[in-house]
Amino acid sequence: MNAISEPTIFESLESEVRSYCRDWPTVFSTAQGSWIRDENGNEYLDFFAGAGALNYGHNNPVLKQALVDYIVSDGITHGLDMSTVAKREFLETFKQRILDPRGLDYKVQFPGPTGSNTVEAALKLARKVTGRESIINFTNAFHGMTLGALSVTGNSMKRAGAGIPLVHATPMPFDNYFDGTMEDFHWFERLLDDSGSGLNHPAAVIVETVQGEGGVNVARAEWLRALAELCSRRDILLIVDDVQMGCGRTGPFFSFEIAGITPDIVTLSKSISGYGMPMALTLMKPELDIWGPGEHNGTFRGFNPGFVTSKAALDHYWSDDALHLSTMAKGEKIHESFAGLAAAFDGVSTRGRGLVQGLVFENADLAGKVCQHSFEAGLLTETSGPSDEVVKLLPPLTITDDELDHGLRIIADATAKVCS
Ligand code: PMP
Repeated sequence: MNAISEPTIFESLESEVRSYCRDWPTVFSTAQGSWIRDENGNEYLDFFAGAGALNYGHNNPVLKQALVDYIVSDGITHGLDMSTVAKREFLETFKQRILDPRGLDYKVQFPGPTGSNTVEAALKLARKVTGRESIINFTNAFHGMTLGALSVTGNSMKRAGAGIPLVHATPMPFDNYFDGTMEDFHWFERLLDDSGSGLNHPAAVIVETVQGEGGVNVARAEWLRALAELCSRRDILLIVDDVQMGCGRTGPFFSFEIAGITPDIVTLSKSISGYGMPMALTLMKPELDIWGPGEHNGTFRGFNPGFVTSKAALDHYWSDDALHLSTMAKGEKIHESFAGLAAAFDGVSTRGRGLVQGLVFENADLAGKVCQHSFEAGLLTETSGPSDEVVKLLPPLTITDDELDHGLRIIADATAKVCS
């Protein structure tokens, strides 16, 4: 046997930019529900769920059946923004199951399939509507890797990758940035008032209600309400980036529902197709829809199999509030487990909402070690936060209580191991 093993095709051919595969050094082959399997038959409980793209689990049977039927019937796969039966049925279902019951009057744009695509469309539209350039973003925000989205993203390593100045964005403190010692929006409002502050009148504010990549930072409902009021008082558009926290991740379909606010623009992607298919939406108040035909386009805006699985997911999971309620109950179960760990070990705390929950380590290295031990014990979970100091849980919303208990035991054991 060779002492030095040959590099795999991933190591020899795939770019050094790859990342998740370094944390989970195995080759995955199949998946079902909350479980993912590698080619050697090892099973892992998935508390990562495609970074929030698999809210209904892997290969959800209801969605799979709809997809298989559609493919077998030679339904349109690629459609740019042509009108198709699949798109019509998706739009009708989205209106009937999601928008109308919430009293939301939005136009729907298909901006290209990724979260970054919808963020770019939102920023571009806000600038076009207001005729202004600058955007307010928040500390530790994450909105994507394309230049516009990156300009409103906080992470310095990611920003450095741009290679050019990232301009026309000004960060403000997210909720609780000063540990509750500073009055909310004092700074922001003061800058808006002060003609000597150097802050140009912004086109829009872009905000995540819970910052996923930024470390599971949860904005309070009253903070979100105050932000929405400030925006409306000052004629600034409010964009809620619900790419990761939408589609039920925090409980309700839209994460901002708990605050009773109606953003001007909303971005959705990740779990909107429900099946891990590339799909994104930009929702805008009708009066903001001043796009000219084709002014913002893209080849992959109409991936019809995504419309099919999305419709199936909306029909199956959003015709009542059962998923919402079970997400809150399961989130509470994780919270209780994490609160126990926080009480048992120094330097450990917890925060989250619904089924995005974080276990926060003062010693950032420990979070990575917990994830590593968890992987060895058969659980996928990742870190987030500026120093990767948070173990971030994003299990499928469809996870069973037994599966959740199993995963929480693995994390508790791993935490005990690294903290003692
Ligand atoms: N916005 C938010 C809030 C996100 O969490 C992400 C991805 N983690 C994005 C935008 C970018 O999405 P994508 O990776 O699909 O471009």
